[in-house]
Amino acid sequence: LRKRVAILGSTGSIGRATLDVLRRLEGFEVRALSAHHNLDRLAAQVAEHRPTAVAVTSEGAPQDFASVTLHHGPAALVELVERDDVDVVVHAVVGAAGVPAALACVRAGKTLLLANKESLVVAGELLMSEANRCGAVVLPIDSEHSALHQAMRAGRRHEIDRLILTASGGPFRTWTAEQIAAARIEDALRHPTWSMGGKITIDSATMFNKALEIIEAVRLYDWPANRVDVVIHPQSVVHSFVRFVDGSLVAQASPPDMRLPIQYALTYPDRVPASAPAVDFAKPHQWTFEPPDAARFPALSIGYAVAAAGGTAGATMNAANEVAVEAFLAGVIRFDRIASVVQQTLDALPPVATPTEQQLYAADEAARERARSFVKG
Ligand code: NDP
Ligand code: MG
Repeated sequence: LRKRVAILGSTGSIGRATLDVLRRLEGFEVRALSAHHNLDRLAAQVAEHRPTAVAVTSEGAPQDFASVTLHHGPAALVELVERDDVDVVVHAVVGAAGVPAALACVRAGKTLLLANKESLVVAGELLMSEANRCGAVVLPIDSEHSALHQAMRAGRRHEIDRLILTASGGPFRTWTAEQIAAARIEDALRHPTWSMGGKITIDSATMFNKALEIIEAVRLYDWPANRVDVVIHPQSVVHSFVRFVDGSLVAQASPPDMRLPIQYALTYPDRVPASAPAVDFAKPHQWTFEPPDAARFPALSIGYAVAAAGGTAGATMNAANEVAVEAFLAGVIRFDRIASVVQQTLDALPPVATPTEQQLYAADEAARERARSFVKG
């Protein structure tokens, strides 16, 4: 039986890599695609992959996609995942805008392959409990969490001591605090090892990406924040480690290419021949590791505090970060203000425990409003 796949955010970096994987993978059919602004690219994808439906999430009159069913408007992504002809959802939308579709997917009992880490950060406790209640499988696409998933298969849960996330350190790994504070937009957009969408590239420069990933790991694996570590690994080949109680470290390594974790999630529990090249030991390699610097990258301690706090804290942090990143990219705030806007917003809005879905959206809204006022002030 062929699995029928929907790709939310198919026009983005992960969405395109997913279509590339699906071009050579057997046993899958592309049934649904979604775009926000890039309708030309969506039209080209429709012509090549022949889905039965597409969603366009931006406002304005979308173009006609001939015989393909068009979902449009605020509920378009939810409608797409709820379609009877979709079994598996690759969620590659950026930002908290992806939360309702992630929840709808697990509530429909469908398999959720999650690149959209923001939905675990904003609504992770609810998302995972709804997935359990409805018997839905959630698998990570994020390379570190895919690495953890793979390494965890080397032992049993009670034998795990720590989850150790690797981080490239981003473009400012060796910069002084003063240099980082005054970093230009083009400096922040120049990632040393990965080619990704704009928002996650800025998150890598501030290390809010790793803060999001600490929370992602804590929610996805129901794991205490104080047993998650971060280690800087500039080559981005070791994608994370699991340390077992006997001190043994199990790592997953592959060149930085998202097609491997995407394929792993699609074919799990099977492994099939690769869509991407493997590490080649015919050449010399140097893999280096160093501790992160919490003073130059305040996002890390914010991530730990938010992961431990739970409730609406993740929604607040994420929304403030989205606003601050947008303001930085618009040239309105300095680079080092991103972390301080997030911290100020968290200080102003204490978390609510065990929030409902509506309370999570309200926390997101309130944090955006607060963060905008700090951006202006
Ligand atoms: P991109 O910016 O390249 O793509 C984002 C996608 O989401 C595009 O299809 C875009 O549509 C769509 N989109 C943007 N805004 C909205 C919205 N408000 N509502 C619905 N759809 C929207 O991002 P990436 O592919 O880099 O990242 C996607 C997700 O995957 C993020 O959560 C990121 O953190 C995560 N991730 C990415 C990795 C990477 O290597 N890129 C690695 C690990 C995780 P359009 O282009 O048509 O406007
Ligand atoms: Mg990652």
